[in-house]
Amino acid sequence: MDNPVTNRYALSVEALWLENMVHSNVKENLKRGEKVANQALWLESSIVVAKTVIGVLSGSTVLISDAIHSGSDIMSIFTSWLGLKISQKKPNERFSYGFYKAESLGTLLISAIILFAFYDMFRRGIELFGSYSEIRIPVFALAVSFLDALTLFFFGNYEIKVGKATNTQSLVAMGKENRTHIFSSGIVFIGILASYFKYPNVEAIFTLVISFLILKIGWEALRDSIFTLMDISPDTEISERVVSILEAIPGIEEYSDLRLRESGPSIFGEVRIGIRKSRDAKSIYRITNLIEEKVKKSVSQIEYFTVKVEPFESVYKHIAVPVERKGDLDVEISKKFARASYFLFVNIKNDSIVGYYFIDNPYKGDTSKVGLSASKLIAKQEVDDLIVSEIGEISFYTLRDNFIDLYKFNGDTANEAVRNYIKGNLSEITYPDEREQK
Ligand SMILES: [Zn+2]
Repeated sequence: MDNPVTNRYALSVEALWLENMVHSNVKENLKRGEKVANQALWLESSIVVAKTVIGVLSGSTVLISDAIHSGSDIMSIFTSWLGLKISQKKPNERFSYGFYKAESLGTLLISAIILFAFYDMFRRGIELFGSYSEIRIPVFALAVSFLDALTLFFFGNYEIKVGKATNTQSLVAMGKENRTHIFSSGIVFIGILASYFKYPNVEAIFTLVISFLILKIGWEALRDSIFTLMDISPDTEISERVVSILEAIPGIEEYSDLRLRESGPSIFGEVRIGIRKSRDAKSIYRITNLIEEKVKKSVSQIEYFTVKVEPFESVYKHIAVPVERKGDLDVEISKKFARASYFLFVNIKNDSIVGYYFIDNPYKGDTSKVGLSASKLIAKQEVDDLIVSEIGEISFYTLRDNFIDLYKFNGDTANEAVRNYIKGNLSEITYPDEREQK
């Protein structure tokens, strides 16, 4: 005979597709990224002004082209800033997943600018063969390129640090580019010295070397932004973190179709989980909430994590019964859960008993926290259900937190209890007995 109560639960579970969306700290990350882009804009602007003025006064071609290069850097920063700004826009009806991809689009544009800077530098390198620049006021030219190299090296490090912490690709790309200024300013140095000693080709070779460094950065930014726009999965390390959470949460019988995708600086994810058919909507809600909470705590970039619930029916069941002595299945049931002498664990497959074992209850004589300790012992055995005649408050809630269902039985032997459980004759305990077990 079918149990009408179980059927009703099964129906509600089958009809239930819980989708929860919780906000993470992606918004704060974007705000922080925007602030750094803003600082970069001011810093780079002052550098361009200084380089242009000194470049014109000294007549250094290298310094003037370096100023043009910094001008293209400003375009990069502006694109990054704009991308970060747009990314922060709240989702609306037309863009219901938000505007995070604006950041990736920004990075894509920046990669184009960086690749153009490569082309420009490569061309200059070729042209410089067999010649050298003539320089006036060399001390000022040296000073300005030295300052450029120094400030942008440290600022580049800062951009990379913030970019990685906030998962903003555009900042990392700019930071890497900025650090190469230590080399491009080196060219200016060498250019001045080469001019002084009237020594050709040195400047040309160094310019070509730097152009290839810039090509590498441009290529990486291009690749990363396109991959993100193509919904690439984040590092396997991130999915491993999610898997370890799914495996640690009790109540999840199986999981599949774990998918994660990058969207600008944020990550969207989904998973399908199997939950025992008999669970009610409330306990399913608790499980899905727990998943989201833990996943988002562990991986801060995860903005949305959708959990799809499917009813799970196992042919295996692992149940526990508090008993008075060890032996066979006909042992006497203990009326007190936490102070029982032993716990009997029964393995059931397709509604028949396939094995059992006993474990001593080492906590039965304890003076405090008996319910908590005994419940943890039961949970450690990965029990699905527990059969008891009465249950204290602490035990009830500890077991419930471990997604162990409780069934009431007032008879004498464990054998009777298990047989009745298999037949579906036992009713579920939904709240603790008023008397707390002492
Ligand atoms: Zn640059």
